[in-house]
Amino acid sequence: MPENLHKLFVVSSPSGGGKTSLIAKIFEDPRSSNFQKSISDTSRKRRMGDIEGKDYYFVSKEDFELKIQNDQYLEYARVFENYYGTSREEIETKFQHSNLILELDWQGAYAIKKLFDKAQLIFLLPPSLETLKDRLKKRNLDTSESIEKRFLEAKKEIKKSREYDFLILNDDFNRALADLKLILFEEITPKNFKSRVRKELVKRLVE
Ligand code: 5GP
Repeated sequence: MPENLHKLFVVSSPSGGGKTSLIAKIFEDPRSSNFQKSISDTSRKRRMGDIEGKDYYFVSKEDFELKIQNDQYLEYARVFENYYGTSREEIETKFQHSNLILELDWQGAYAIKKLFDKAQLIFLLPPSLETLKDRLKKRNLDTSESIEKRFLEAKKEIKKSREYDFLILNDDFNRALADLKLILFEEITPKNFKSRVRKELVKRLVE
């Protein structure tokens, strides 16, 4: 990853953890003018409301595999049997001009941290597993089979939050948004950030 004066943030959460809505809200803040979101490639099928080039670049499995062979991804992972990846081109173009927000799973977050140790990893935690399941159901985007799969995967994902720089409790949209803004716009350090996530919560979520 090229040395760069801009900052790079990775935001993760279990599926249904609320990262997409929070990040969308971040871009309504005038302080986001020097921020851009990295758009990933995915081979997953488009869901209702997904917009090409805004949510993802939707590519076929074959095209994705070809890009892997050609080393066009900075990182990629298989999540829920689909490919998701950050293309080198996407980062090289955007990171030259602005701070970047990447919305990735833990595999992507760890890979980016290895490549760029200044990257700040942010994890959004639900207040309980029940809340997470409720959110997955309410967003009405997945089949019940897919919801179950995403829910089972959530515990694994939450375990990985221990390596993140910032843990945000997403119990309330506005409070989580305020925490995210502190990290992105106020440059608060992990040491000075007063996380509302207690160790007991993480323990309870992954048990
Ligand atoms: P969804 O299907 O709900 O849009 O995303 C599933 C998971 O893939 C989410 O945890 C999302 O953050 C993650 N994801 C999206 N894009 C990428 C990417 O480029 N790389 C990696 N490693 N994960 C990604």
